[in-house]
Amino acid sequence: MPISSSRRIAVLGATGSIGRSTLDVVDAHPGRFQVAALTANSNVEALVALCEKYSPTLACIADPALGAAFERAAKSRCPGMQALAGPEGLVACASHDGVDGVMAAIVGAAGLPATLAAAAAGKTVYLANKEALVMSGAILMETVRRSGAVLLPIDSEHNAIFQCLPQGPGTLADKGVRRLLLTASGGPFRTRKRAELESVTPDQACAHPNWVMGRKISVDSATMMNKGLEIIEAHWLFGAAREQVDVVIHPQSVIHSMVEYADGSVIAQLGNPDMRTPIAHALAHPERIESGVQRLNLATFAGLTFEEPDLARFPALALAYAALEAGGTAPISLNAANEVAVEAFLGGALPFLAITDVIGGVLERSAAERVEGLDHVIEADRRARAIARELIPLARERMPRARELMQES
Ligand code: NAD
Ligand code: MG
Repeated sequence: MPISSSRRIAVLGATGSIGRSTLDVVDAHPGRFQVAALTANSNVEALVALCEKYSPTLACIADPALGAAFERAAKSRCPGMQALAGPEGLVACASHDGVDGVMAAIVGAAGLPATLAAAAAGKTVYLANKEALVMSGAILMETVRRSGAVLLPIDSEHNAIFQCLPQGPGTLADKGVRRLLLTASGGPFRTRKRAELESVTPDQACAHPNWVMGRKISVDSATMMNKGLEIIEAHWLFGAAREQVDVVIHPQSVIHSMVEYADGSVIAQLGNPDMRTPIAHALAHPERIESGVQRLNLATFAGLTFEEPDLARFPALALAYAALEAGGTAPISLNAANEVAVEAFLGGALPFLAITDVIGGVLERSAAERVEGLDHVIEADRRARAIARELIPLARERMPRARELMQES
């Protein structure tokens, strides 16, 4: 395997699930990658320990209140390293001259400014932070086009589709593509009746059958809003119209997504469900490297099965399709409402089934406006969050039984 010159990477969200998997792939290839920048939200000790190990040029703790503590620890343990704090520090890490590629793995809207900054600086952007794309798809794609940045999908479905599509310019129609088929595991509640979901706890919702992930995306997988966000992500990444993106439930999570062509061919990408595969694929692109992922042994599977998604039990998918169709600021409202509702659920303040009620309520109360620019994105996000916060107590009151059950369990 030819070794290209060392690629200097920034890992935004280095302490998270994707961040750790990224560093695991880096560790397996000494000399191939150089960790030039690292960021974390609030775990100063974990970030400093990573800085000791990787000796980046700069690092940032996102919570500004922890800046002084981080700087103090870095001064003694990582001499010479630039220790930054706050949102501007994240942007500095993402756009630093000494960085070639940026792993955008901060969770949620908090990752938007740094992801955009990486794109504006013409970096290779490894995109895990799907919320940033859902919020600002047109702006992010236009920024990439103008700066000459390269955008490589980390989300396993989009990475799979990327691998199943011919490379190079051209629309899906030019490439003879009929539709994209996103696979979904169905999450931990795939077979549960809706009534059985009334009392589920955060820990139950986060116990995904096939993937180990951060808590926010785990809840998104349980509601299936993760797939909803991924529909919108596919729209922007691949220029797919609403009717060109379908979802199929595939509980084994072996096929990570598929592309159907005009001639009837369906091309799929398979592998064990381990994010180190898409991460290694993107980090080494266009080469292929070892990822540390166990090899797929199809003979160990009794079968690969497929089902239609049930929109009545999982209304999140219908909400996401509606937001994509409405366009403009609607996906921003969808994402913001989801973030607020999921946080409330994880904090014990909202029953599981009320998450999609809140999102639906926010979409109803928010007009889909044409997006005028980044300030407008941030304003629409702020407004949707405020409406979501108003709706949470109302949604909770409508489900007294669910509240009781949650408290009992
Ligand atoms: P996680 O919660 O495990 O990690 C999130 C990281 O972001 C942490 O390093 C945390 O310190 C940092 N962070 C959190 N809030 C922040 C803030 N306000 N400002 C700055 N940094 C902050 O999440 P994850 O599972 O690694 O997911 C990261 C992103 O990747 C998400 O957008 C998720 O949708 C996407 N993704 C994850 C997976 C997966 O398997 N985990 C798969 C596909 C896509
Ligand atoms: Mg995914």
